[in-house]
Amino acid sequence: MGIKTKDEYIESLRQMKPVAYMFGERITNVVDNPRLRAGIEATGATYEIAEKDEYRDMVVTESPLINEKVNRFTLPPSSVEDLVARVKVNRGLGNYVGTCHQRCTGLDCLCTLSIVCYDIDKKYGTHYHDNFKTFLKYVQENDLTCNAGVTDVKGDRSKGPKDQDDQDMYLRVVEKRDDGIVVRGAKAHQTGSLSAHEIIVLPTRAMRKGDEDYAVSFAIPADTKGLIHVVGRSSLDARELDGCDTGNQLYSKYCPTLIFDDVFVPWDRVFMCGEVEFAVDMVVKFSSFHRQSHGGCKSGKIDCMIGTALNMMDYNGTTRPSHLKQKVIDMIHRAETLYGCCLASSYEGSEQPSGTYFIDTVLANASKIHEGKEMAEATRLMIDVCGGFVSDLPSDRDFENPEVGHLLKKYMKGADGVPVEKRVKMYRLAEKLAMESADTISDIHGGGSPEAHRVTIFRETNVEKKKKASQRLAGIES
Ligand SMILES: Cc1cc2nc3c(=O)[nH]c(=O)nc-3n(C[C@H](O)[C@H](O)[C@H](O)COP(=O)(O)OP(=O)(O)OC[C@H]3O[C@@H](n4cnc5c(N)ncnc54)[C@H](O)[C@@H]3O)c2cc1C
Repeated sequence: MGIKTKDEYIESLRQMKPVAYMFGERITNVVDNPRLRAGIEATGATYEIAEKDEYRDMVVTESPLINEKVNRFTLPPSSVEDLVARVKVNRGLGNYVGTCHQRCTGLDCLCTLSIVCYDIDKKYGTHYHDNFKTFLKYVQENDLTCNAGVTDVKGDRSKGPKDQDDQDMYLRVVEKRDDGIVVRGAKAHQTGSLSAHEIIVLPTRAMRKGDEDYAVSFAIPADTKGLIHVVGRSSLDARELDGCDTGNQLYSKYCPTLIFDDVFVPWDRVFMCGEVEFAVDMVVKFSSFHRQSHGGCKSGKIDCMIGTALNMMDYNGTTRPSHLKQKVIDMIHRAETLYGCCLASSYEGSEQPSGTYFIDTVLANASKIHEGKEMAEATRLMIDVCGGFVSDLPSDRDFENPEVGHLLKKYMKGADGVPVEKRVKMYRLAEKLAMESADTISDIHGGGSPEAHRVTIFRETNVEKKKKASQRLAGIES
C-alpha cells in the first residue's frame, strides 16, 4: 500500500490496545481521549499533507526497497537530495502544526539502523541488517509511525549501566531464549509513543566490555504485552481535557515514560544484542540525525511565532513602531540561520557502506546548539511584540459569562476594526507556542542535553588539520 490517509492512520491506531495510564487513571480509549488525540492529530498531519497538492511532492517519494510510493517518514536517505528533503519536510510540518509532529524520531531510528546494522554484520557475520530490512519493508508497506525509545532513566548519573545499585536503570536483556530475548527497563520522555505503531529501542550511551546486556536494539508494536505507557504531565495539558483555552485548536504534544516490564522480543525483531562497541555508533548516528530533524522542525515553529507576532501587531495597532519590525526581523534571521545550518549538514552528507546517506555531524550538532539558545530568544521576542496577555488572558469561559463577558469584550478591544475575538485567539496561540513545556523544553534537552552536542562537535571535528594550518602560517614545522 505504501501511503495511508490520515483517516486510515487514526483507524489503525484504534485497532491497537496499548496499556496506558494518564494522571492516575488507566486509559482504554487512547484515540478519543482529547489530550492524547491532540497529539495524535499532530502525527496525523504527516499523513494529511501527503494528500494535499501543496505538500505531496515534498513528502511522497519512491522507495527503492519496495518499489512503491512511500511517505518520507519511512525512508532512510539514499542521496543528498533525500537528506535535504528531510529538513524541508520538517520545516513545512513544524509550520503546519505549530508544535511537534512526533514522527521524526522514528525516522531517525530507521536511518540509524540502516547504517549501523550493516556495519555490525560486516564485523560479526550476524543478520541484523536482514532483520532490519524485513522490518523496514513492513513499515513502508503499511506506512507506519515509529517512536524512538532511546533515553534510559539512568539512575545515578555518576555510574554506568552495570555499576548501578538497581541493574534495571538502563534497559537490558534479562533472558535469552531460542525464540527471542526478554527485556526490562524504562525509557523516559517518549514523544508520541501512543501515536506510534512501533517502538524502536536504541541504547542511550556508549557501552564498554561488561555492558553486553545493555547493548541492545529492537522494535516492538506499541501494544506489546508488558509494555506500559505512562503519560507525563506538562504545562497546559489540562486545557485539552477541559476543552477550553487550548490556544492551538488543532494540535498538541505529549511525552510518556515507557516501562518495559519483562517484554518478549522475537529474534527477527532484534537489531543489536551484545556488540558493545557499536552502541556509540547507534547513539552518534541517531542523535545527529535527530538534531538535524529538530532544526528543520523548529525553524518551522519560529515561522509560526513570526506569524503570531505580525498578527498581534495588526490586532494591537502596533504596525508602525520600527522596533517591533526589527524584532520580527531578528526572529526571521534566527529561523533562517537554523534552517541554513541543517541544510548545510545535508549538503555535506556522505554515503555510508550500507548505501544509506549520513549528514555532516558537526553541522547537525552546531544547529542544535543554535536551536537551544535561539528558540528561547525567538520566544522572548514574540512575547515582547505581543504583550503581557500572553501570560494571563481571561478564559474563554469568562468571555462567554453573561455577567462579565460583555465587559471583557469591551476592555480587550485592540486596533480599530479588529474583532476582539481575533485578538483573544491570537494571544492564546502565543501562550501555547511559548509555554507548552513538552515542546519548548525539547529545544534544550531533546536529542540530548547541550553538553552532548558540544562533546560531539569536538570529537567529530578534525582539530589536527586546524592546528597544522596555523603552524604552517607561523612557520612551525611539525
Ligand atoms: C520534550 C522532550 C522530548 C523528548 N523526546 C524523546 C524521545 O522521543 N525519545 C527519547 O528517547 N528521548 C526523548 N527525550 C529525552 C532527551 O534526549 C533527554 O532528556 C536528554 O538526553 C537528557 O537526558 P535527561 O533528561 O535524563 O537529563 P540528564 O541526563 O540527567 O541531564 C541533566 C544535566 O546533567 C548533565 N549530566 C548528566 N549526566 C552527566 C554525566 N555523567 N557527566 C556530565 N554531565 C552529566 C547533562 O549534560 C545535563 O546538563 C526528550 C526530552 C524532552 C525534554
